[in-house]
Amino acid sequence: MVLKYKTNQLPLTYQFVVANSKKSFAENVFVELRHENYIGYGEAAPSYFFHESPVTIKNFFEQIKPQLDDIPLAIDSIMEGFERKVRGNYSAKAAINMALFDLVGKKLSQPVYKVLGIKNQGTFFTSFTIGIDRLDIIEEKVAAVRNFPILKVKLGTKQDYEIIETIRKITDCPLRIDANEGWSKEEAVEKINWLEHQNVDLIEQPLPAKDFNGTKWVRERVNLPLFADESLTVSTDMEGLVGVFDGINIKLMKCGGITEALKMVKKARALNLKTMIGCFIESSLGITAAAHLAPLFDYMDLDGALLLKTDPFQGVKITNGQFTLPDLPGLGVQPLIFKTINQRQL
Ligand code: MG
Repeated sequence: MVLKYKTNQLPLTYQFVVANSKKSFAENVFVELRHENYIGYGEAAPSYFFHESPVTIKNFFEQIKPQLDDIPLAIDSIMEGFERKVRGNYSAKAAINMALFDLVGKKLSQPVYKVLGIKNQGTFFTSFTIGIDRLDIIEEKVAAVRNFPILKVKLGTKQDYEIIETIRKITDCPLRIDANEGWSKEEAVEKINWLEHQNVDLIEQPLPAKDFNGTKWVRERVNLPLFADESLTVSTDMEGLVGVFDGINIKLMKCGGITEALKMVKKARALNLKTMIGCFIESSLGITAAAHLAPLFDYMDLDGALLLKTDPFQGVKITNGQFTLPDLPGLGVQPLIFKTINQRQL
């Protein structure tokens, strides 16, 4: 297999602010994996939270290059080989993993969800994220997505009550709250007990990632389900979450791709944890890869590409928060900006 890659800046419509970070563009790395006459596409959305950048991704690709032998169907063993050789680097692993699935689906002339044996169950609903902002801008953002069935609201600020009251002037749709580690435990209990009466479905990452004792203390005092995001990356982190959280947010970029996400969703069922499939700021390439797994999850948060000014890929079509699974072979994505990635061949 031949691997090429290219870093691309993805400007956002609005600056994206959450309790623990801020950005006005994403810098994602796109890969093209060629085998015979087929091309598989993949995307890495590096996160500084996990010490990743376009440079660490490039280094990862150089390290694993010798392991990209000529058997793209052996995805599990290729991923295990990466894991043995290089720790972490999950978004880089996710890029190669989704490119392998794209390649295999194209070779078999089947969409990825069918290759995985997943039953397509019609229409799915994703939340749309409202980042932290001035109240007048939040009002403008919410008015623009008033047809979305569910909103995910970023809190963890001094104005949390005002943010919710502003949103409630415009819509009474269900909300999912993400505090991105922004609350103390006392503050979390007070705010969650108020949010319970605001048509809120769940609370994501109320306290700092490692504060399991505090989260447990909060969970004993609130009724809304608590979801872990920053508190976990891969399947081996999951046992420790039982009794602390009610559910987990699984992201391809955080866990290393479709192969690991499947392991996690299966394990979550066994551990009685609810599941959400989430995303970083990604183009329709990364989002489409995640969308193929939608039928396995309780909640979907796949709005990353909708936050972009321009999307370099065409893939799953999300209209007013609703989507169906793509039925083209592979992931079902098409590059819009670059025909093939020609910056460098590794
Ligand atoms: Mg989150």
